[in-house]
Amino acid sequence: MKLRLHFVVDPMGWLCISMVFGIWLYNTLFIPKLVLLPHYDEGHIPWALVVCYYIASALCVVALFRASTADPGRLPLDPHIPHSEREHWELCNKCNLMRPKRSHHCSRCGHCVRRMDHHCPWINNCVGEDNHWLFLQLCFYAQVLSFFTLVLDFCQYYYFQPVCFLATDLLNLFTTRHELALLRVSAVMGVVMFGGMSSLFYSQMAGILSVSTPTVTNGQTAAPLISWQWALAEVCGTRWKLLWLLPLRSRQPLQAGHHYRSHV
Ligand SMILES: [Zn+2]
Ligand SMILES: [Zn+2]
Repeated sequence: MKLRLHFVVDPMGWLCISMVFGIWLYNTLFIPKLVLLPHYDEGHIPWALVVCYYIASALCVVALFRASTADPGRLPLDPHIPHSEREHWELCNKCNLMRPKRSHHCSRCGHCVRRMDHHCPWINNCVGEDNHWLFLQLCFYAQVLSFFTLVLDFCQYYYFQPVCFLATDLLNLFTTRHELALLRVSAVMGVVMFGGMSSLFYSQMAGILSVSTPTVTNGQTAAPLISWQWALAEVCGTRWKLLWLLPLRSRQPLQAGHHYRSHV
């Protein structure tokens, strides 16, 4: 796999991505220390749950790293435009370069991006044709990890360990209060992340899958342009569904007949 790193110089973006990384680090450090490992030692939770937590955490940070450092689909200075597609290209009046339709100029990054969705300060990168699949993975794994964290926080509050009963002396009281504060911060971050990531993920999926839903015009139902599998395969750059979930790979544009392509 060839990794080409792409960095956007934007101090505000660095601040935002540092916050996201900080939330990930906080939960990856404290949740195992406070909940997972002590209860695993006491035999309350199986080892498989601990492994699943670390896998979700690792996939989340890899997706974050790749989404923020992958080239979103920057256009070359002198693009090769196939003769049959010339009518689908236009001139960007900001950078004076030819670009396919559905490309947009990002003023933060200072260049045009193919099939640009938006510029996301939380990953300090544009979301475009070549990293949209990584952005979707990041939303998905952040949802999984924050949900996991919320369940563990809930269990720690109400099921695993009735912490108020542990405060038998001053030291225990201090530790208990400290643990509670850490758990509360984790729970607040979990709710914010889960709510934000879920709404983002499902709005993104609705946009992608809209081309695979039948359209109704004047009472007539027309067949969808493409199937949902093809719509997702096109975004992820592979028809192998298991690979849709893997952030450590490169994306290859699918070869499709022109009538199938939802972009040029
Ligand atoms: Zn441009
Ligand atoms: Zn941008």
